[in-house]
Amino acid sequence: MAGPIRIACEEAFALPEQVEIYRALGRSNWRDPDVGFWRFAEEAAYRDILDGLLDLGEGRLATMDAHGVDMQLLLLTSPGVQVLTPEAGTALARLANDRAAEAVAAHPDRFAALAAIAPQDPAGAVAEMERAVRTLGMHGFVVNSHTDGHYLDEDRFRPILEAAEALDRPIYIHPRILPADAAGPYRAYGLTGGLWGYAAETGLHAMRMIMGGVFDRHPRLKVVLGHMGEGLPYWLYRMDYMYRLRERREPGPLAHPPSHYVRTNFAITTSGMNDPDVLAFCIAKLGADSILWAIDHPYQETAEAVEFMAGAPVSEADRAKMFGGNAQRVFGLAGAARS
Ligand code: MN
Repeated sequence: MAGPIRIACEEAFALPEQVEIYRALGRSNWRDPDVGFWRFAEEAAYRDILDGLLDLGEGRLATMDAHGVDMQLLLLTSPGVQVLTPEAGTALARLANDRAAEAVAAHPDRFAALAAIAPQDPAGAVAEMERAVRTLGMHGFVVNSHTDGHYLDEDRFRPILEAAEALDRPIYIHPRILPADAAGPYRAYGLTGGLWGYAAETGLHAMRMIMGGVFDRHPRLKVVLGHMGEGLPYWLYRMDYMYRLRERREPGPLAHPPSHYVRTNFAITTSGMNDPDVLAFCIAKLGADSILWAIDHPYQETAEAVEFMAGAPVSEADRAKMFGGNAQRVFGLAGAARS
């Protein structure tokens, strides 16, 4: 394969045990919007997605090979372990991380993984973060936005942020549906999901961390957002303007204007956002060093995501960074090389 190495950075998998747990949750409450998808997952309309999620081997590799994808960074699919009790959440996280590590061990030049963690069990999450990096060799952590309506700016999660900073690995904040008490107005017209609600929820999470001073307390913490930054790059001017307007009355709580943290502490991926105009805009606002390529397999099409980045009207140097070079740096995948 000619051209730059291609590392896809938000690629989903599921465990059979996880699917069973979601089904059991759904049987008691199919209105729980986060597990609602799993009610339909076995129907013909979505069967290919379910099969793709459960495949951590040959089928996944065949899709990658067909489209010249060198490596997938694996994430346990949303909402991950965050819908479970603290004990069950950490137990499922450990199982998922062991399975992901097995897939990586079988194909170390094709797969790398982020660790699932259960924020509802902060001490267990920290222990699993340390095990995931030091024992399993994983490259960061995935948090599927809120945990029971709570966000990472809250004091209870401070040990998790300290651990990420100490281990020098990023936290990927992946979307999930808004908390039940906030989701009401979004339930019309299917707006809870990727159509709109995911970005509203995940963008809110990032703004809570910024405005809560997380990055003044943890200046080396790195957060990765999918979907071209969940709207944040578009709002940089306005978030700073409104912050300054508020400062007429009282000093702001931050050491820098909000946009500083978006540029400094965040990286974004192109998952599910194969729009060359948005890519050009995000390069203009954040720089190509902050943008990582992703597919969102198997929810999105690999062919389209590859064509998007291979054909984007950018310099070859920027293309190489976004297709894989930035992923090597941000996730510590420096060993990743085309076999
Ligand atoms: Mn995704």
